[in-house]
Amino acid sequence: GLTIEALTKAIDAVVATIVDHASELTDLDMAIGDGDHGLNMKRGFEAVRGAAAKIAAQTPADALKTIGTTLIMTVGGASGPLYGSLFLAMSKAVADRPIDLVVAAEMLEAGIQAVQSRGKSHAGEKTMLETLIPVGAALTAAGPAADPAALTAALKAAAAAGAASTVPLRASKGRASFLGERSIGHMDPGARSSELMVGAVCDAFF
Ligand code: ADP
Ligand code: MG
Ligand code: MG
Repeated sequence: GLTIEALTKAIDAVVATIVDHASELTDLDMAIGDGDHGLNMKRGFEAVRGAAAKIAAQTPADALKTIGTTLIMTVGGASGPLYGSLFLAMSKAVADRPIDLVVAAEMLEAGIQAVQSRGKSHAGEKTMLETLIPVGAALTAAGPAADPAALTAALKAAAAAGAASTVPLRASKGRASFLGERSIGHMDPGARSSELMVGAVCDAFF
């Protein structure tokens, strides 16, 4: 099962990639939003890193809950409550079980459901869901005995294709929807931040 050490390593990897890509995320949000997604995510994940000592003493389920509440309190914007809901629902879905690939897939599917109900959104609206939904499907399809290298490649490919798929879409949720047709031709910032998170988690776990 997933240990708190592995989870802590994954948090460090996510923080590092969000910090490294903050200006790219801000540029993407500048094009179709209000230009704060990089800053929002950086603030939120630096706060998660600030809670590292607390998290290291928790069970994985409680650690995911700490991550979710920290993101809700610190990210702000639309993405804060959405990413917060993702982690809170993943925490709930653990239900005291050891976390293996099958449980992890159930957790991610529960997290995606939570984002959808919180955001009143679904696939095709040019949001983070364009990345999260295919990644959830790929993890579910992988099954309990997936080869780590193959799984990493599959999840990263699903995330990259998902984020890229937002470029030709017209946004119907979030600030980008205010632009109507002018939202077409740009990658959604939340889809890109989700891609970055998936990549970092894969590199840390496998
Ligand atoms: P804000 O738009 O409030 O400034 P951010 O810039 O941090 O917040 O986050 C914007 C991202 O949030 C978008 O790129 C999109 O991926 C995501 N998002 C916004 N609204 C929704 C929604 N209803 N459902 C899913 N994701 C959403
Ligand atoms: Mg924004
Ligand atoms: Mg904003």
